[in-house]
Parts: sequence; structure tokens; C-alpha cells
Amino acid sequence: MKAFKEFVTFAPPLIEAEELAAVAEVLKSGWLSTGPKTKEFELKFREYIGAQAALALNSCTAGLHLGLKVLGVGPGDEVITTPMTFCATANVIEHLGARTVLADIDPDTLLIDPSEIERKITENTKVILPVHYAGQAADMVSINAIAKKHNIAVLEDAAHCPPTFDQGQMIGSGENLAAFSFYATKNITTGEGGMLTGPSDLIEKARMLSLHGMSRDAWKRFQKGGNWKYDVPQPGYKYNMTDLQAALGLAQLKKIESMYQKRLKQVEIYNQVFNSCDLISPVQVREGTQHSHHLYVVKLSLEKLKIGRDEIIQRLNELNVGTSVHYTPIHLHSYYMKKYNLTPASCPEATYCYERILSLPLSPAHPLGTIQKVADLIVEILEMELR
Ligand SMILES: *Cc1c(COP(=O)(O)O)cnc(C)c1O
Repeated sequence: MKAFKEFVTFAPPLIEAEELAAVAEVLKSGWLSTGPKTKEFELKFREYIGAQAALALNSCTAGLHLGLKVLGVGPGDEVITTPMTFCATANVIEHLGARTVLADIDPDTLLIDPSEIERKITENTKVILPVHYAGQAADMVSINAIAKKHNIAVLEDAAHCPPTFDQGQMIGSGENLAAFSFYATKNITTGEGGMLTGPSDLIEKARMLSLHGMSRDAWKRFQKGGNWKYDVPQPGYKYNMTDLQAALGLAQLKKIESMYQKRLKQVEIYNQVFNSCDLISPVQVREGTQHSHHLYVVKLSLEKLKIGRDEIIQRLNELNVGTSVHYTPIHLHSYYMKKYNLTPASCPEATYCYERILSLPLSPAHPLGTIQKVADLIVEILEMELR
């Protein structure tokens, strides 16, 4: 079996001359923290998404935290989310003293199942927090209808978007708050960073909380004409984005469509190779959605194989192919297991899927030939290990 000469990293960023120049320009400008570039990035991102308002932050986690905070989540409240997500989605619920309630997933799409959400609603439910897993939109028509019926707010974890659409609507452009991530592996990156979009009144509340709780536009206080005076109506956080990050984000945003097209081509290659192999199947795509293809997740037919998922990961690693698992579900992390008395049976669909999922290399920085070779290599490994 032929190994790659160099390690194929799982999701390298596509950083080119534009990004280098943009960051250098900020470094030379003398203004390094939140400033004009951050404002410009907020504006351009808001326009791209079609959002009412946008707030640039230092992470998506910060966006999720502030989002729940401005929706009034606190002790005694319950927030319903999916087990099939990164720990940050649930951790922020815990930071606010609220309770994490898990609604199991649809095993075909790995997205939160609206009927499970409905089953978990109580008089304490304050927010529904769906995740657009892998870049595919959760069923927002059903989720929004449930929220409306029970008078509950919705905060969307849009870390794997954009460009994700549900029924023709860009995720982040509706009435709900949505938190995006620009972490190093995400669809567009600022190294670390995030954006919260949604209704202007909520975004303005989050804005104040994102910079110590200082009164509006505090970042301007060191500019000519800026006022050194500020008030702190409530204690906030240190969640602001810097101009260095924003410059990187502006350069990335310019090529978001071309990077998406590259992802699409890679997905086509994987799909084509795996179509003729019954040992591996890509996660299903819902009707009426545009998938951003942040992750390419496959399910392994373990019943037909002699080796398990973790061993396949090990083999691939030895052949210089980096893969990952998204995610160890929330109900299998020790903190959540202990606090909520959870077991693998608490979310049976998520547990079942977790054991057989694998995320493959996908990035606009990878040449198509690399993806083709990775796909062929995986099929070769699996076919050697038939039960
Ligand atoms: C990456 C990610 C986050 C956190 O994003 P950061 O920008 O690193 O804070 C939250 N939720 C999901 C689903 C993610 O993949």
C-alpha cells in the first residue's frame, strides 16, 4: 500500500499572498486591536450572509455564550441541543448555570431530530440550540415552528457554515441569532475568531457585553475625537475581534465561493469512489439544503469489517493521512455523564453513529489528486479487512 510522502493534514487553511499582505498592512498601520478592519469585516460578512446585524468576536464559543446570555439564559433554564457537536456548544450552557438537555439525532443526517426536541421541551426550556452539523442545515422550518409554538428562542450553531442554505435561505440571515466560527480549520478562518448575526437589538446588547460591558464604541476612545469616558452598565467579557484577525477574514471572505467550489469537487471525488464500495457511505444530505461541505463524514459498515474505526484511523495515520472524528458526543464526556446521569443509551442514535463515523481530509488547500488518492487508499484498506 502506498503511503503519502508528506502528511496530509485533515483541514489545512488556504492562506495565499492576499492574506499575508492584508495582515502586514494592519501591522504597519499601528492599529492592531478592534478598529476599522473589524468594522469592515462585520459589514462585509453581514452583507454576504444577508443578516440584519453582525458582531465580530474572538471565537464562535464567545458568540454562543453571548447569544445565550442576551436571550436571557440563566440558572434554572434549560437549553436543548444536539449530542453530536463540539463540546463548546454545551459548555456555554453550563457557564450560564443553565441545564444542557440533549435531543438525539437523525442517524441518516446526524442532525438534531425535531421530534426529539419536541419530546424534551418542558416549562423551563428557554432556548433551542441546533447545530448545522458538517455544514448541512438542520431542519429549521420544523425547529422554528416548534420554537414559535412554545414561545422559545433559537440560537443556531453555524460554526460549519457558510455558505449553508435551508429552503433557499442563507443560515444566519433569519430572525434567529447564529454563531459562526473562523477557527483555523473552518470554512473561512481568522486563525481564531467568530461572528454573531441576528436581530439588531440583540446584537447591540451582545456588542456591549463583548468588550467588558463598556458603553458603545468604546474601541474608538483612543482615536482622534474619541472620548476617553465610558460607563459599565454591566460587567462584560473580553470577546472582541482584532483588526489583524479581521484583515485575514476579509481576504478569506473574498474567496469564500471559490473555496466552496473546490470543496464541492473534492466531495464529488469521494462520493464517486465510495459509491461503488458498500463498506463506506457518506452521510445523507437533506432535500432543499445547500451543504457547505465543511466536513466530509462517512459511516463505516463495521458489521462487514474485521477492524474497528479507531484502527482504520491508525492505519491511515501510518500511511500519512490525517483524519478525525466529529464528535465524541456530549453525553459521553465525563462531566456531562456525571452531572446528568447520562449513559451511552441516553442518546442511542448518537452513540451508534459515533462508533462508525470518520471525517476525511477536505480543504480547498488540498489538490484534487490528493483527495482521489486518499479515497482509493481507504477503499483498499477496507477491502483487505473483510469479515
Ligand atoms: C468549531 C466549533 C465551535 C467553536 O468554535 P470556536 O470558534 O473555536 O470557538 C462550536 N461549535 C461547533 C459545532 C464547532 O465545530
